[in-house]
Amino acid sequence: MRVLLIGPPGAGKGTQAARIAAHFDLGNIATGALLREQVANGTELGQVAQEYMDRGDLVPDDLVIEMTRERMAQAAEEGGYVLDGYPRTLAQAEAAYRWAVARGIPFDLTLYFEIEEEELLARLAGRAREEHRSDDTEETVRHRLEVFAAQTHPLVDYYQRRGILVRINAVGPVDAISEQIFATLHWHKAKAMAAGVHRPEWALDATPG
Ligand code: AMP
Repeated sequence: MRVLLIGPPGAGKGTQAARIAAHFDLGNIATGALLREQVANGTELGQVAQEYMDRGDLVPDDLVIEMTRERMAQAAEEGGYVLDGYPRTLAQAEAAYRWAVARGIPFDLTLYFEIEEEELLARLAGRAREEHRSDDTEETVRHRLEVFAAQTHPLVDYYQRRGILVRINAVGPVDAISEQIFATLHWHKAKAMAAGVHRPEWALDATPG
């Protein structure tokens, strides 16, 4: 199973990605976390990425696409992945789509985390206090929300046209949101199995719980 998560910063993608990965035994590929690791390790990529991240801008497409490919290939081989925070632009989506289709491993489903801006600002202020992320200052948060609206939100339409978009109500208790997501993914899996379009790994998957 190969699942993408799209949503504004603070929508709870990271939390749910970890839960989905554990529940369905998938790789969890979070580009923001991978980039923060590169920054912490002082790599060449990290040095370039840091200035974009600190401003709340997106890191250039080619760098992120390159960083993500091998991880996607490996995780796909091991049963699938959850992509948290990638793709984030139409150029990334196109590159990821062409690449995945060429290898016979296209995405199954994109989950769009829907949430109001007011709720996000409150959540991000909380996260800034807890995690001390340098890109969670109020000004940067506002900018990241604008960047989401301008550059990432168009992907909702893009994946809707491809017929793989599912909207998730990202407001409410974390457990309830997980249940909503698990039910969606189990349903999708059952449908795919019935249609006979999927590989046998579907049949071996974990039971709910
Ligand atoms: P996140 O942890 O997903 O909120 O990402 C933190 C920051 O990493 C973002 O604000 C971007 O600067 C950068 N980033 C993460 N994923 C991507 C991506 N797919 N494309 C470009 N920049 C990204």
